[in-house]
Amino acid sequence: MPKMSNILICDMPLRFDTYKGCSHGCEYCFVKLKTDISKIQNDESAQTLLNFINKRRNGEVVEKIFDYDIPLHWGGVSDPFQPLELERRRSLDCLKVFAKTKYPFIISTKNAMVSRPEYLELLKDCNCAVQFSAIGSSYDDFEKGASTFLERVEAMKKISEIGIRVIVRAQPMLPKMENELTENLKLFKEAGVHGLIIEFMKYKYKAVGTLKVRGDNVYPLETIKPVFDRVKKQANALGIKVYAGENRLRQYGDSLNCCGVGDLWKTHEANLNHLLFDDKKVELKELHNNILSGGSSQPNQWSLGQSTKDLELLKTLNYKKLLNMAMQSKSSLSDYTIDKKAYEAIKNFKPY
Ligand code: SF4
Repeated sequence: MPKMSNILICDMPLRFDTYKGCSHGCEYCFVKLKTDISKIQNDESAQTLLNFINKRRNGEVVEKIFDYDIPLHWGGVSDPFQPLELERRRSLDCLKVFAKTKYPFIISTKNAMVSRPEYLELLKDCNCAVQFSAIGSSYDDFEKGASTFLERVEAMKKISEIGIRVIVRAQPMLPKMENELTENLKLFKEAGVHGLIIEFMKYKYKAVGTLKVRGDNVYPLETIKPVFDRVKKQANALGIKVYAGENRLRQYGDSLNCCGVGDLWKTHEANLNHLLFDDKKVELKELHNNILSGGSSQPNQWSLGQSTKDLELLKTLNYKKLLNMAMQSKSSLSDYTIDKKAYEAIKNFKPY
């Protein structure tokens, strides 16, 4: 069954993975900080995917917060198109399910495998978008098990040519990569890329030029905002949309839906980013009947729907209550935005 994460800030918080572990072995991989990714095991199967889709469509409660076809994000903690896929073909089997059911989803990958003929043939019939992580060839040495930058660009072209939306994830972005990224914008344009998501590197150790925010060392806003603005200006001039995968910059992107699919499908907009920054009124109706069990616990400290503790908490609160708590918690809000506009909105916030 797909797993939920980041429900308070993410438009697409249901994550789907066909493998556990990943042989791409990216040096900066955040997943390997928590688990040994060199041991690759099977994760979700085509059958569990089909069960999930059927249950939702038969009206059985699957995730109480969503009562519509919330798009799945495929490839949250492992790459669905890593080399082992050519032996096991779990992702190919899942694509068959997606092609048949037309359930919406996004693929996230660093491998050109997804553009091989047998996958392209299925993608043609899917209701999906494909994201490739790519900044420039300088990253090839740090992503030795994945396709090279130029192989990914070739794959982007093949996929956009069959009418599937292609989005580049410029992550983990470093301020010093600004020139290389902007030099590659033309290549992306020629490959039919629709949009670019920018998200900066987070370190577990104190790296030069970073500051500590909770458990991570990150580049300060005054470093990353000008880089983001400059890249955005150049990309927009070429007709490429730019989104902020970086929580602290989300409101400055071309859409609050940082996956770049907000105009394609209904997504989970009843989250903090839309409550704070969306000009249109966020639809909260979907939340009213979604009691997760009506408990009254009021923990002092909690983060953004990622930990087991948060998920336990979700079972004891209704989602509306959780949002109210989040909107009144500066420490949680500062995780994703710290600018004046946000604090104005928080000051004027009236609980639902
Ligand atoms: S592709 Fe993703 S999951 Fe795989 S090693 Fe690289 S960062 Fe980690």
